[in-house]
Amino acid sequence: MSERRIFRFAPSPNGYLHLGHAYSALLNFTLARGCGGRFLLRIEDIDLGRVRPAFEAAIYEDLAWLGLEWEKPVRRQSEHFDDYAAALERLDAMGLLYACGCKRSDIGHFAAEHPGWPRDPDGAPLYSGICREKPRRPAREILADGGEALRLDMAKATALAGEGLFWREYCVRGREGAPDAGEGFFLTPANPAQWGDVVLARKDTPASYHIAVVVDDALQGVSDIVRGRDLFFATSLHRLLQRLLSLPEPRYRHHELVLDDTGEKLAKSRGSTTLRALREAGISAAEVWRKLGFQISAE
Ligand code: GLU
Repeated sequence: MSERRIFRFAPSPNGYLHLGHAYSALLNFTLARGCGGRFLLRIEDIDLGRVRPAFEAAIYEDLAWLGLEWEKPVRRQSEHFDDYAAALERLDAMGLLYACGCKRSDIGHFAAEHPGWPRDPDGAPLYSGICREKPRRPAREILADGGEALRLDMAKATALAGEGLFWREYCVRGREGAPDAGEGFFLTPANPAQWGDVVLARKDTPASYHIAVVVDDALQGVSDIVRGRDLFFATSLHRLLQRLLSLPEPRYRHHELVLDDTGEKLAKSRGSTTLRALREAGISAAEVWRKLGFQISAE
């Protein structure tokens, strides 16, 4: 069986791309090229309050400057809310969604009053589940009314998904750099319960990142998800949604993050060195490739 592998780089246009994005994009691009696979660019612009057209335009410009080529047309998530709504409908038909009117501050207060209350891998307190017992209403109605979010009933969802939820995570066998080191995929157990009853949609953002990403990766036939380690724990949730929605299981590779001189992760919010700032400072694309450890191929 010779499957043509499909890779993607999926930035959100809520700021300018920095060296960390360049690393992820170059890794996907070179891996795809190295195996005769396909390289897709996807614009993850569902958070309508934060995305800006100028940032999207800058993504195309910066990636082209780096010398990357991607397939057209580019999938823009904001044009596909119907696909995400259909996935939510399926979860709703399984009885897995419920309306929640609690504010983030309510959940924070609840956690403060309960020392030792569990937190998710991003550090946010888990939802207490107060709204779980309310009479259920159709998800579509809840979103149309506004005000309330849709949460996943995690206990029910994991019970329905059943045992043996894993993902294949890329790893280097043996000592990295050693002559005997090989590459493989390590079966990593998924633990979606650590996220609690996550929000999957709100009126202002009718699909969460988690639902949109699993739907799109499946629709686009992505075989290899290569992204930063900051999304490692989210993969547990993604595997759960894939199992519930009967979507194919991609392979994963969560790469190291590019750190700044102080050892901190680069972030749009902290104004970390953007590709355009480097370009304006006279740095060439070839220097960016080299700095990030990639060899420019002769093609
Ligand atoms: N859109 C996400 C980000 O910019 C990446 C999502 C993914 O690679 O799964 O952080």
